[in-house]
Amino acid sequence: MAYPLDLNAISIPLQGLWLAVLGVCLVAWVFHCVRKLVLEPLRELTVGTQKISQGNFDVQLGNSRLRAVNALIHAINQMALRLQERELQARRTAYQDQLTQLNNRIYLTLALADRTSRAREPLSVLTWSIDNLDTIQEVLGHEVADQILIRVATKARRLCRDNVVLARIEGPVFCVVMPRRLLALKLAQYPLKRLLQSDLRLKNYKLDIQGYAGIAHYPEHGQCADSLLRRAEIARQLARKTRQISLEFEPRFEQRAANRLQLIAQLRDAIAHEQFCFYFQPKLNLRTNSINQAELLLRWNHPTKGLIAPGGFIELAEQTGLIKDITRLVFRKAYDMIDLCMQQNLRLSINLSAMDVEDLALVQFVARLHKNQPEAAKHLVLEITESAAMRDPEQALEVLGRFSGMGFQIAIDDFGTGYSSLAYLKRFPVTELKIDRSLVQGADLDTDGQIILESTIEMGHIMGLLVTTEGVETDAEFELVSKLGADYLQGFWLSRPMPFEEFRLKHLVGNHTALLQPHTSPLEINQKVL
Ligand code: C2E
Ligand code: CA
Ligand code: CA
Repeated sequence: MAYPLDLNAISIPLQGLWLAVLGVCLVAWVFHCVRKLVLEPLRELTVGTQKISQGNFDVQLGNSRLRAVNALIHAINQMALRLQERELQARRTAYQDQLTQLNNRIYLTLALADRTSRAREPLSVLTWSIDNLDTIQEVLGHEVADQILIRVATKARRLCRDNVVLARIEGPVFCVVMPRRLLALKLAQYPLKRLLQSDLRLKNYKLDIQGYAGIAHYPEHGQCADSLLRRAEIARQLARKTRQISLEFEPRFEQRAANRLQLIAQLRDAIAHEQFCFYFQPKLNLRTNSINQAELLLRWNHPTKGLIAPGGFIELAEQTGLIKDITRLVFRKAYDMIDLCMQQNLRLSINLSAMDVEDLALVQFVARLHKNQPEAAKHLVLEITESAAMRDPEQALEVLGRFSGMGFQIAIDDFGTGYSSLAYLKRFPVTELKIDRSLVQGADLDTDGQIILESTIEMGHIMGLLVTTEGVETDAEFELVSKLGADYLQGFWLSRPMPFEEFRLKHLVGNHTALLQPHTSPLEINQKVL
């Protein structure tokens, strides 16, 4: 039996099916749209913000068609861009010297490490400095000093273009790293002297630039950035000290630098434990033929090396600032002898360094000693070299003025070795001029030398100063300075510096002012004293 086909009955479930399929498609489409327009951008946003939070600012998110999401993407892209710029700026600040726009020490060290790690040829590290920049800055100010640094950087940049790392590593110190063959080529084309020791015109000034360089080579002078830089610096310091334009590092320099460091530590120790003593060098009064003055010359009583003369440590003490402590120690020791000076009517000279006459705290220190023993100042002469007085004349004027106010005599030491005029020096409260031995020795054999010595003594007298001639070694020199009218004489002819005990025996026993008769020789003097 056949049943009639009820189309209506079939179409209803079919319709339902179609509707269901349509519904599924619609849901799928909606889901697709939501995924495309919202979920994917949101996932991208999440990944992007995660990258940013991890410090990777190289993030640029694609656009979305949804305005609200797009606004968020735009904001995040902008934020990433700004962070990128800021990072670039920070990196520039971290690796660049702001004044000269050259690289700085951090960058140089990284670049040098990188270069040495993949170097296929020998490299050279050259450091150089503008040595007199401090002085220029003191006289002409920071602005001029900055301009000099900028000019030197520009000049160096012009000279070192390719395959070169150029940096200012600190203050007036620059450094360049380049293949060794390139350095040889550059130095042949452009001698270092033109970069390091030349005139520079700035504003209305013609400035004399003085610089020194040190060179270290990779690989023989060091395998890493640190040792190469350090050794180039050791060579530079030695070049400066020995006044050579440049020096290539040699292993023996390092030993020298290590010794220096050790000596500084020992000197510090010596100050703490007062390992110093004085040697006394008498001065002969040529008017009265008597000895009532002596210069106190410091000796370092080194535990293993024995007595070290000032030539072996004063410069080091000046460079490290330890001289300030040494001078205080010298003052204390001199004050310990004041009772003896009073008894013996003796006047003692002590030496001051440039740093001392720029040190107002020293004035206060001495003022405290002075308060307890005001009479002492009459028995002490403070010696200062003309170059030390001229380093900061205004400050020296102030400090020496205060010392003079307390009653100390002031002497200009080693006169004739500097370039200052006596008229200018007379602005200082000086009472004595000590003519350096270079003007005295051999003056008896040389007419020009004799004229210079005579006019210096005369000039000293015209200025109202007592004149001492230093370094008199021979009878002829003694006769000459006596004839030319010097007031005092100091030198090996009379006596070498000696320890206190010897000085006491030879010159202090009894009434020493009456010990000398006119024209007695030092030998006779000493015999009489004994
Ligand atoms: P100075 O102040 O010019 O002292 C004189 C130096 O010349 C002494 O050397 C002395 O031994 C030497 N001398 C003296 N007469 C003659 C001579 O006829 N011929 C030769 N060739 N030399 C002579 P010394 O004791 O080695 O002292 C050297 C320098 O060290 C001193 O030169 C002074 O500038 C410095 N100095 C010494 N003691 C002190 C101190 O306590 N403080 C400071 N800041 N410097 C000091
Ligand atoms: Ca002296
Ligand atoms: Ca002297």
